[in-house]
Order: sequence, then C-alpha cells, then structure tokens
Amino acid sequence: MWGANCDSWSEWQKHTSRHGFVTPSSILASRPALVQFPLHLSSDKRLQTLERMIYIACAMLNQQRFYIENFGCQMNVHDSEMLAALLQSHEWVQVSDYHEADVIILNTCSVREKAEQKVFSRFGVLKDQKVERPHVRFILAGCMAKAWGIKLLRRLPYLDLIIGPGMLAKIPEYLQYPSRRYPVVDTNEPESVFSLAPEMIANPQHHSAWVTIMEGCDNFCSYCVVPYVRGRERSRDGHEIAAEIVNLTRRGVREITLLGQNVNSYAGLPGGFPALLRKIHEIDGLMRIRFTTSHPKDMSDELVQTISELPKLCEYLHFPVQSGSTSILRKMRRGYTRDNYLNRIDTIRRLIPDVALSSDFIVGFPGESEQDHQDSVSLIESVGYDNIFIFNYCVRSGTRAADYPDDVPLQVKTKRLEDLLQRQRRIVMARNQEKIGMIVEVLVDGPAKRGVSLWTGRTRQNRVVNFSGTAAEGVLCSVLIESASPNCLYGRIV
Ligand code: SF4
Repeated sequence: MWGANCDSWSEWQKHTSRHGFVTPSSILASRPALVQFPLHLSSDKRLQTLERMIYIACAMLNQQRFYIENFGCQMNVHDSEMLAALLQSHEWVQVSDYHEADVIILNTCSVREKAEQKVFSRFGVLKDQKVERPHVRFILAGCMAKAWGIKLLRRLPYLDLIIGPGMLAKIPEYLQYPSRRYPVVDTNEPESVFSLAPEMIANPQHHSAWVTIMEGCDNFCSYCVVPYVRGRERSRDGHEIAAEIVNLTRRGVREITLLGQNVNSYAGLPGGFPALLRKIHEIDGLMRIRFTTSHPKDMSDELVQTISELPKLCEYLHFPVQSGSTSILRKMRRGYTRDNYLNRIDTIRRLIPDVALSSDFIVGFPGESEQDHQDSVSLIESVGYDNIFIFNYCVRSGTRAADYPDDVPLQVKTKRLEDLLQRQRRIVMARNQEKIGMIVEVLVDGPAKRGVSLWTGRTRQNRVVNFSGTAAEGVLCSVLIESASPNCLYGRIV
C-alpha cells in the first residue's frame, strides 16, 4: 500500500527519512498497480490525478525541509526571515545544513558585482547536491533573479525556480507542485509589499525585530539597480504596520527597526512618515524605535522635529551621502548638494543633540578627481560620523552610470577607500574615548560572544557595549563605560 516496498506507515516514514523526498515517479515505478485508479478516467488523466493525490499524501507523510542562505542588505535578511515563517506555516521544516534540505533557497543581492559573484561561486559548491540527491530543488530568489531573469540558466542550468524579490510569497505555491523538467521563472512586478499576518511573525526569543514599512524606490540614482530590481515605491498600510508591531510587543519584542529603501517617502498613512512614527510611538511595551534608510533629500524639518519629540525614537540616523563632492553628487543624481546635506546635518544636530550619524560612501565613481575625493575626506572630518560604510564603485548594467566610462583605476579606488577608512577609524576611536566615565542606557542583547560572564547590548546611539553585572536579554540597564576600542565600549552595570 505505501509504495517503495514499505508495508506500514512507520516503514514508509523511515524510508522517506533515509531517502529524502519521494517523487510520484518513484512511487509509480515501485507500485505500477496504483495507476488502475480511478477507472472512469482516461489513462493520462488517471496518471495526473494519481500524481496529485500522491503528492498530497507525500506532503502529509513527509516533513519537507528547506534551507535558506541570505546575501545582501537588512531588507533581504528580513525577507528571508519572513519566507522561513511562511514556509513553516505550510508545514515545511527549516534546517541549518543544506545536506539535509529538500529545497535550497539562496536569497540574493544585485547591488554590487561582488555579491553576485558570491552567489555564483556558492552554487559551484551546492550543485553537487543535485547529483547526490536528484530530488533536491534549487531556488534563486531576490534581486539577482529580477536583474538576470532567464539568463541565469546559462550559468546555473540546474535551477528549478527563479523568483524576484516581490514574488517571494508565491514560493510555497510553486513548491506544491512536482519538480518540472523546465524551471519556473517569476520576475513579475509586485503590487504590494511582502509581509505576513502578524501572528506568523517574530521569534519570541528575540526582543528586537524588523518591520518592513515600504519597498522599492523612485529615485533612480545613476549607479543603483534597486529601482529596477525592487520596483517602484510601495507603502504598507499604517494600521497594518501598527497591528504587526502590537503583536510583536505581545511576544516580547522591545525594539523595532522600520525598514524601507527610502522610509522618508513612506505614504501609507495621511501625514506620511512622521505620522507613522507618532502612531507607532503610542504602542505600549515598545521601548525603542529605529529606522533605515533615510534619503537626505527627503529629510524634512517636520521629520527631524518629530524624531526629536518622541522619546522612544533612538538618537541614531543612517544618512547616506555617497560623496562629499557636489559635482559627483550631481552625476549620481542624488538630488542634493554638499551644502544642502550639511544644512540637514546642522538641523538634525540642533534638534537632536545626542544623535549618532552613519553614512555610505562610494569611492571611484566615474570622473571622480583627487579634488572630489578630498571633498569626501573633508566632509567626513567635518561631520564626524559614528560609522561609515565605504564601497568601491562598480558598474551595474542597466543603470545610467553604466554609460559613463569607469575611468578610476582599481588601485586608486582601493587607495581612496583605505584613506577614508583610516580617517574614520581615528574619528570613531576619539568618539568612543569620550564616552569613558559616562553612564549609558543599554538594551541587553544577551551574553557576549567573547569574555566570560560578560553581557552585550547596544546604546540608543547603536554603539555595542560589552559589560559585566547581572542582566537579562531584552531589559534596559545603565552601564558605566570604563574603556573603549574602535568597535566597542566596555563597562559595568551600575
Ligand atoms: S535612493 Fe538611490 S541609492 Fe537608495 S535605493 Fe533608491 S536609487 Fe538606490
């Protein structure tokens, strides 16, 4: 009755766990007599019906297992978390070893060439799984799927599903069906933001969670693929976001980070992003609110004022400038000049005196001269960021900047990147030294990775603090800072 030479349910389960997922063809091969059912249909229809029934039976009998690997930004990490929760709600089991998985998913990034190369080389390792366990299915999801589409098959011919970032919610549906001879490619434009019902979200063991509030981008900066791969801006309904956060706080979440490519242009509530912040601020049980990413051209006075008035809003702002040179900013189509940006910083610092600022820089953008680079250096020195992320410019096909000659040699890019990093290290070290002797508020993340009986957590300004004393995950405590390194502060609970 059970196929594959098994005569009982338990034997069947043992068989399936030994041999992985069972396909209809393997069952039909082992029990050809099954195709006699149902008799009133044509033999083709009988086979189709039977295949479907067997798949439903397989789904009931097997605990199918998936493995996800993530590449890229926080938004991708959060998408992967939601995708995992979604698959689990369809009875799939997440595994941390791809050797045990029936489906291997890589959620990819296209923002930089390096991220794409990592995915290709990862498949170089994973592809043996198809040889060793032919039933395994490969899914390439996310921005690379959208950017490359069917062309991916030239380099990764063993993919079963290529699915863009806006269509992740359809993965469980695609997985209901048997592996096809030809892969499925779904890179349609999404109409809404990928989100889950509140009760499906959040690992209650974590006190910190991300919440997507909008997705996509309308800015079309000349170097960036995001508007092409993530699509145009779409905002989630403000009431839906608030309901999700209420649910998260009931499950023990104390800190949320609102996510979007450009949160400042959120439009899912009358009054925009400031109105959303005020609404979320009222939620009981929530201690801290963060958000990323803010586009400088959309940072209105009203928004800065709102942040300064709401105590749960942390004094930390990621405010990516990309270059300190107005002529480069113009070529990047960023929509502000160096002076506009510095004006915004003045307003932010005036209204939120304790604010910590971080930024992104691109070095070696086409046409970047030594003077342009020095403009970035002087901007870093004058703003005094708490953290910066620096990237070498790389051409992204389909963007406007791809038409410009990539004329800054790699050695020059690398030298400029190192130059900015060195200067930033000195600034951060001095900043951290200033904190010695201060008492700071820390939200405890858990035991520190290094240091026996030390705890780790973050300040409101997003600095990592390792400290001694009695604490528990998810509580706020006061820590006296006793020493500092470039990456971390050290202290004890007081
Ligand atoms: S604002 Fe510019 S850099 Fe940021 S996602 Fe949009 S296009 Fe890309």
